[in-house]
Amino acid sequence: LHVDAHIEAGTTLGLDHAGAHFLRSVLRLKPGAMLAVFNAQDGEWLARIDGIGKGWCSLEVTELRRLPEPEPDLWLVFAPIKRARLDFVAEKAVELGCSLLQPVFTGYTDVSRVNSERLAANAREAAEQCERLSLPLVRDVISFEKLLADWPTERRLLLCAESGGVKPIGEVLQDIRAGDPQAGREPWAIMTGPEGGFTKGELDALTKLPFVTPVGLGPRILRADTAAVSALACWQAVLGD
Ligand code: SAM
Repeated sequence: LHVDAHIEAGTTLGLDHAGAHFLRSVLRLKPGAMLAVFNAQDGEWLARIDGIGKGWCSLEVTELRRLPEPEPDLWLVFAPIKRARLDFVAEKAVELGCSLLQPVFTGYTDVSRVNSERLAANAREAAEQCERLSLPLVRDVISFEKLLADWPTERRLLLCAESGGVKPIGEVLQDIRAGDPQAGREPWAIMTGPEGGFTKGELDALTKLPFVTPVGLGPRILRADTAAVSALACWQAVLGD
């Protein structure tokens, strides 16, 4: 179970309503039951349920199971897509080590709103399932213009662009790694477009930025969700630990 509070041996943790409800009503745990609690700062710890009731639970932390480990600083910037596909992207992005999910409204985006709470809940569930210690940040959807205006220029962006003449992602990443074996420790982002693709204006604006590298994901046009997962998997395979 992910907890925000500081975890250390001997401390008592009080869970919030959602955490207590999950342990009591979903997992049906009783006092004395052991479970793992974790966060990115303190690692993973064993804890015993001291007391549990409707909407509350107190845990006693007993022993360390896993120290915090360095994680990639890898954002996924994506044009929102239909709900079920977005749920899939959020889950896979967490499994593949994304540190932040940033939805962006682009010209051809055909979804009018993004439920960030739902995205965050999916992300939390995926982190717990894949035993990842940190939770990715889920940002509210922003406009394409704001994305560019606020971009931290030290963060390199791999732009998934299906137009011809773009270098394959594998080649781009291998070259980067050959030039700097530690490149995976730096801040990175991967960006995918909506089902309708990027507009020409968006592609022009992006490709002239010094921190943007367009990459291809093969000869076929992938659905937006497949593109996001493939690009993340390639990044992990070449630059991930
Ligand atoms: N309507 C667009 C077209 O026909 O050209 C296709 C858009 S595609 C369904 C959605 C997004 O996935 C694209 O904007 C791009 O970011 C990514 N994508 C899909 N296939 C790709 C490929 N082969 N290489 C790189 N990016 C790809």
